[in-house]
Amino acid sequence: MDVTDLASRIASGDRRALARAITLVESQRADHREQALALLNDLARHPRQALRIGLSGTPGVGKSTFIETFGLMLVGLGLRVAVLAVDPSSARSGGSILGDKTRMERLSREPRAFIRPSPSQTHLGGVARRTREAVALCEAAGFDVILIETVGVGQSETVVAQLCDLFLLLLAPAGGDELQGVKRGIMEMADLILVNKADGDLKPAAMRTVSDYAGALRLLRRRPQDPEGFPKALPVSALEDTGLAPAWTEMQTLIGWRRDHGHFARRRAEQARHWFEEEVRQGLLAVLTRPGPVRETMARLGDAVTQGTLTPEAAAAELLAQL
Ligand code: GDP
Repeated sequence: MDVTDLASRIASGDRRALARAITLVESQRADHREQALALLNDLARHPRQALRIGLSGTPGVGKSTFIETFGLMLVGLGLRVAVLAVDPSSARSGGSILGDKTRMERLSREPRAFIRPSPSQTHLGGVARRTREAVALCEAAGFDVILIETVGVGQSETVVAQLCDLFLLLLAPAGGDELQGVKRGIMEMADLILVNKADGDLKPAAMRTVSDYAGALRLLRRRPQDPEGFPKALPVSALEDTGLAPAWTEMQTLIGWRRDHGHFARRRAEQARHWFEEEVRQGLLAVLTRPGPVRETMARLGDAVTQGTLTPEAAAAELLAQL
């Protein structure tokens, strides 16, 4: 494969080249990995910046519907939109959240949109890397907005939060007046809580849920990187396309403020450092498990510990010294 040619086609916005490149970064083969790194390096020479928006919500809350309506609205504003998914559960549930493209049928037909289904993956480290690289490829391809979708399982929200500039939490109207068991940590990550399905019979419940969350958000510590009044809770209806334009205005206000105060660039820099350290951790784990001298030493030292001839601490120190 001609990596330079692929890079220039991606940079010119060729969606087929982009899809091919994402397949390349998803590949486990060593030769593909080398090409992928060369490609990413090549593309890093012309940095472009998209607004990266993370979106989380449990199945059924309306993520696909929201992405379709919101994506079409952005496309209508002349923006180019890419949609990616972080779905570590796809291997377990036997299907990916974006696997069924018909769920975003209209958006997928838009020439200014790009939708990438989530591949089956088994471990989160691999998912994080492939999504991060896919984000970089979409940025290089000149997309203005990248939506990164995740279902709230395991650590996937944390991965998405480390990849995005803005984090949206999508909720459904609650039946009673109880908050829907949303973990505090996830609420703290959210920049906007969007209560979807604020339409028809569900509208009163949605409005109640919005004010419950607005109250809960006010109790959280004010974040220094945010202007007064954020994070916010807002009602939306992805089905009827109401509340999405105001939500977009709030997102732009928040991002504009963060850019002006240096928080935007700082967050990206911190994220880059996080991913560097994470890559090193994953790389070290790979060294321990891959067939080779380190694994052999580990097995030998493990036997010694089992037989009681070496303490676990001494054995670990000996192994780490070899690294
Ligand atoms: P996802 O699993 O989070 O991707 O949810 P979907 O987008 O597939 O939506 C789940 C169900 O909720 C579908 O039957 C949608 O038609 C419905 N739904 C999504 N958004 C809305 C909305 O704004 N209002 C109403 N009333 N229903 C919605």
